[in-house]
Amino acid sequence: MPDAARPPRHVLILGGTTEARRLAAALAPEAAGAPEPAPAPECALRVTTSLAGRVAAPRLPAGEVRIGGFGGPEGLARWLREHAVDALIDATHPFADTISHNAALAAATAHVPLLAVRRPGWVPGPGDTWHQVTSLDEAAAALPALGARVFLTTGRMGLAHFAHLTELWFLVRSVDAPEPPHPPRMEVLLDRGPFTLEGERALLRAHRIDVLVTKDSGASATAAKLTAAREAGVPVVVVRRPPGPDGVPVVEEPEAAAEWLRGLFSAADSH
Ligand code: NAP
Repeated sequence: MPDAARPPRHVLILGGTTEARRLAAALAPEAAGAPEPAPAPECALRVTTSLAGRVAAPRLPAGEVRIGGFGGPEGLARWLREHAVDALIDATHPFADTISHNAALAAATAHVPLLAVRRPGWVPGPGDTWHQVTSLDEAAAALPALGARVFLTTGRMGLAHFAHLTELWFLVRSVDAPEPPHPPRMEVLLDRGPFTLEGERALLRAHRIDVLVTKDSGASATAAKLTAAREAGVPVVVVRRPPGPDGVPVVEEPEAAAEWLRGLFSAADSH
């Protein structure tokens, strides 16, 4: 049972992903209106999710929300101390590399336990034609040999890497409208996942796409495009993930993070 005398344990979730929203909902079930009993720790919790502020109208998680950068690892360490954070969960996107490294540094400085939630990456199956690269620049360099009509799903922030490809036509899908520099010949599709297989097939057909570019984001919400590409014989340029920071424990699912918190707080209670 929660100890009424103790202030709630404060969990900071670095968010901007489905996993972060699922974890916040599991930890703050009243706020999410969750019908199922959540696998949350038994002690009273205060849950804050931090968003970078990149998306104009983000999907908001349950619990408290703060928006905007912290000011590097030092700023994050200060925030952890000033807000008496008991545990830090890095549930950011696998390509949000800077904040993940900042989290590792800040957690070590402020002596706050840190766990990362990292969804598994995608793996090619029979029939896939994948070209794996390590950066958007490498993806851009690979494109002219692969096709002329590109479906670009790497987000609006990296469009500058493709801006010099004046001979190619791009279908760019992003949540908010991109700003220049971007490829001169492009159509923008403002949308956010999850996407259906039917929908992705129709997009490839309607725009006569002959090559797809994606980050290895993992997760099912945006995986249908890979199946649609395989079916249509469309090659896929897959940008590999950056390595996460060393020494940070990682789980794949929000439920495992809730379990980790339960273990952390019950171990602390027994001391
Ligand atoms: P990033 O390059 O790793 O981080 C750049 C800076 O943005 C960080 O140094 C930090 O600023 C701030 N920041 C990032 N995530 C933050 C968070 N959750 N709360 C507060 N500040 C944050 O990050 P990014 O790739 O631009 O991604 C930004 C956000 O979008 C992340 O929350 C991520 O989960 C989400 N997202 C990213 C992608 C992607 O492909 N990269 C896709 C979907 C969602 P300070 O140094 O000032 O603290």
